[in-house]
Amino acid sequence: MVPAVEAAFGYAGFFVRDQRTEIRPDQELGWNQEYSRPPQKAAATKAAICSLAVVALHSNSDMTSTIEMPCDGCGQASSPGHIAERLKRLEWSTRYRPVHIQTLLLCATSQREEREFLYSPRCDFRGEAGRVLEVAAIATDGKSAEIVQAEFQRAGFFLTPVLECAFETESQDGAKRLSLLEQRLPAMGTRIRRSLKPKRVVLISRELEPVTEKIAAMELGCPMVLDGGKPFGLDGPNAGEAVRRLRKALTIRVD
Ligand SMILES: [Zn+2]
Repeated sequence: MVPAVEAAFGYAGFFVRDQRTEIRPDQELGWNQEYSRPPQKAAATKAAICSLAVVALHSNSDMTSTIEMPCDGCGQASSPGHIAERLKRLEWSTRYRPVHIQTLLLCATSQREEREFLYSPRCDFRGEAGRVLEVAAIATDGKSAEIVQAEFQRAGFFLTPVLECAFETESQDGAKRLSLLEQRLPAMGTRIRRSLKPKRVVLISRELEPVTEKIAAMELGCPMVLDGGKPFGLDGPNAGEAVRRLRKALTIRVD
């Protein structure tokens, strides 16, 4: 029940609350209010938009689909499709979140394709998903996705990204990607400490290497497992070796 509660009221709480935000006539119109305006307020809102002094907003005056708030899960501009994809993946992940997480595997971003996303009903368990299953010693042959995901859950593993969404096309630049990761770290730390509460955290993406020291300096409430001071490169060219070293590291009992 804990995961369901988190999804409904905690982790996705911003989105739920935001839907209920109303605009009073005496309020100054801001991004939040406009983004979440109720339908019956649409006419008043549009009039208010046209009176805004911020020139940049005027090119987006008809806001129904063009205004974009930063996504609460990744910081990128969030179209309705982007938000829907985020919530769908949150729901899938939450379904297989262990009540007591033994090992939290932290990757950089969500996979772009659904078939590569570990908790997707259509996951083919290749790429990152396949490698984390190797770490957990879970075979996939002849099993449905649901069975595999349930076994991963029962083994006490949970995979979660720092950025809940894949990088959009406009975020492919290396500096932009790093900036998004850095901005997300405080929220991620709070989520780990207050909600996920794992016994240990393992970094598994090379893309997290520039922020490894910052994550290590955060008070996560549990040990962090690294590979010689760096993330385990499960997304790298020597992923097989990284899997072997991580399995060896995880035999260390943590209570
Ligand atoms: Zn997002």
